[in-house]
Amino acid sequence: MAQNGNASELVVLKKVKKHYPVTGGVFRRQVGTVKAVDGVSLAIRRGETLGLVGESGCGKSTLGRVILRLERPTSGSILYDGRDILALSRDEMRPLRRKMQIIFQDPYSSLNPRQTVGRIISEGLVIHGVGTPEERMDRVRYLMNVVGLRPEHINRYPHEFSGGQRQRIGIARALALQPELIICDEPVSALDVSIQAQVINLLMDLQEEFQLTYLFVSHDLSVVRHISDRVAVMYLGRIVELADKKELYRNPLHPYTQALLEAAPLPDPDRKKERKGLTGDLPSPLNPPSGCHFHPRCPKAMEQCRKSVPVLKEKGDRHWVRCFLYGDEVDESL
Ligand code: ADP
Ligand code: MG
Repeated sequence: MAQNGNASELVVLKKVKKHYPVTGGVFRRQVGTVKAVDGVSLAIRRGETLGLVGESGCGKSTLGRVILRLERPTSGSILYDGRDILALSRDEMRPLRRKMQIIFQDPYSSLNPRQTVGRIISEGLVIHGVGTPEERMDRVRYLMNVVGLRPEHINRYPHEFSGGQRQRIGIARALALQPELIICDEPVSALDVSIQAQVINLLMDLQEEFQLTYLFVSHDLSVVRHISDRVAVMYLGRIVELADKKELYRNPLHPYTQALLEAAPLPDPDRKKERKGLTGDLPSPLNPPSGCHFHPRCPKAMEQCRKSVPVLKEKGDRHWVRCFLYGDEVDESL
């Protein structure tokens, strides 16, 4: 039972920052700071898929690692099931670790090539001392079946599987300890387009079967479209827009979201003509632009966008946007 907060929210982030010092020179003095995550407030609801989208380098993986407490945030708070996980000791954290798992982008490098599939999938069970060796292998066979792998391949090695099958191994490994939350960090980005839909459909089936909550990270808005209930758009460490999926794709408010959508492949050839997409590269998070980080690339930038940061504000039904086009309020916390 949640100690505080809203019971429908499994994870609540409040003003979470993760800044990395950057050192240089022979004395390794700090010469700057990468603000990988810069004041993110966000809730992940029980049983939902929250899509998290933004260009590579905008802080998505860092945010995922911070939620899993693989890294401590520089500041801010994180509630899991109502509990402040930053206040928990290593021992207190252990039972929570089982409930939060991650699936990585690259099924090639995230699986140990020298271990059999059985060993890889059962690793968490061994670490947490679950079951006898026979019971663990029974569970591995069951999980292989669940993710669409053949249980008789339990003694094979990762290289004997295709890319899509390897991602299924990663998914089975994440499921082994019956988690509640899975951070899917670009789980299909390394796969052929033809395989992507299969893996996404599998994740959706598993979510229903095991009542999972997903944070689904991608650099591509079209990838999260099918699976997400809500979508958050991130730019250089900050959430710039958040809305229910239908609303976001039908009525994108932030010029960055609009540009991402225009850059995405469109099934409708008539709309191709209007495509503008994004101009310029993602600026370095080491020296991000002042004010709204997006202003140098924004076709609608105004004077105030250079000077101050707009607040993330609810504009319409559960639709949040951080942009001066929709109000003058300044975010003083950044
Ligand atoms: P994304 O997953 O959206 O591609 P990341 O979270 O991996 O982005 O990285 C965000 C920014 O933080 C990048 O500029 C990256 O170089 C920087 N970064 C990530 N991890 C570290 C680290 N351990 N030390 C220093 N900088 C880091
Ligand atoms: Mg990443």
